[in-house]
Amino acid sequence: MSDCIFCKIVAGEIPSHKVFENDAVFAFLDIAPLAEAHTLLVPRRHVTQLDQLTADESAAIGAVLPKLAAAVQKITGAAGYNILQNNGECAGQVVMHVHFHIIPRNGADGLGFRWHPTKYAPGRDKAVLAELQSALKN
Ligand code: AMP
Ligand code: ZN
Repeated sequence: MSDCIFCKIVAGEIPSHKVFENDAVFAFLDIAPLAEAHTLLVPRRHVTQLDQLTADESAAIGAVLPKLAAAVQKITGAAGYNILQNNGECAGQVVMHVHFHIIPRNGADGLGFRWHPTKYAPGRDKAVLAELQSALKN
């Protein structure tokens, strides 16, 4: 897509700190890292959200993500890491080319969570389950 910053990075039209590439995916350092080695992994093809990826693209991402995560953890010495993947503005997505964040975690990183669990009303869990199972058949 002509006005997509990540498409331009993949095409080499604007500079990036490339970490890895193959024929399906491209990984580069985040320009505003939450911690050193914060890396982004994207498919070469422009799609906005995760659910728009093909099975082959998903497989290509799945093959690379663990290796990237291991490398990020190894060179930073982080005790752990988060894989963050935002879909849609309401979920915090700013760049509308699907991407996976690999964020090493340490005491001084810039990532925070708000996580307030709720409860299903009686019977609602079974109704939701039936809807999901039905949606997966289509
Ligand atoms: P998200 O909120 O999930 O859409 O995250 C977008 C990420 O892209 C942010 O962490 C930005 O710092 C990063 N970003 C934006 N522009 C660039 C760029 N030119 N090179 C590298 N990372 C970028
Ligand atoms: Zn794009």
